[in-house]
Amino acid sequence: MRLTIIGCSGSFPGPDSPASCYLLEADGFRLLLDLGSGAVGALQRHVGLYDIDAVCLSHLHADHCLDLCAYYVARTFHPDGPRPPIPVYGPGGTASRMAQAYGLAEPPGMTDAFEFATLAPGSGRIGPFEVTTAHMNHPVETFGFRLEHAGRSLAYSADTGESAALVELAREADLLLCEASLLDGPDLPRDLHLTARQAALHAARAGAGRLILTHLVPWNDPVRSLEEACGSSFTGPISLAASGDSLELG
Ligand SMILES: [Zn+2]
Repeated sequence: MRLTIIGCSGSFPGPDSPASCYLLEADGFRLLLDLGSGAVGALQRHVGLYDIDAVCLSHLHADHCLDLCAYYVARTFHPDGPRPPIPVYGPGGTASRMAQAYGLAEPPGMTDAFEFATLAPGSGRIGPFEVTTAHMNHPVETFGFRLEHAGRSLAYSADTGESAALVELAREADLLLCEASLLDGPDLPRDLHLTARQAALHAARAGAGRLILTHLVPWNDPVRSLEEACGSSFTGPISLAASGDSLELG
């Protein structure tokens, strides 16, 4: 399975990256994890606009879902006609939220472009991937993901505060793609986001093989994020996500 970082900027787009969006490919199937602000632009550097087979939205904060509006336009109003619908997995209420975001009446909202499916904690298949989801620790309903294919595994935190469920999702995973929105400091908000050090501690507890820090907020110094993560007990490789980076797992 191949991971390409489309967007890794936390909470809003940065000068060098859209907000959250990750492309997972295996056996010719292309899955997007999140479709945050600005992601549809950078996505086109890596894959044909109409080559996406499914989209998973971790939660309905704008920086994780709002470019579904842009993608709706691209799939619906092409001069050669609308493209066939593809599945979009998200929390309950995703179809209505997206219709409202674009100002569409329901029905049909976006249902001619997307087949909306409601996520629930548990396991199932999306294309060639075995997908396990769990609730994360964030103020709105948010799903973390574990994707497995051909003996390789990747876990994605989405947005979360400290979470035992994330440790379970990432158990012995080859890669934990983990948010690191915060830097160490006093009076950190609880049950919202992780520091880079906390991300590394989750990777250590899970026994993950490597850690990529993502959801990097433009007002933080990424070098400091990396230093704080590297100062933790996690002994595997740690790196910073960057838009355009691509990595083959296995
Ligand atoms: Zn969020």
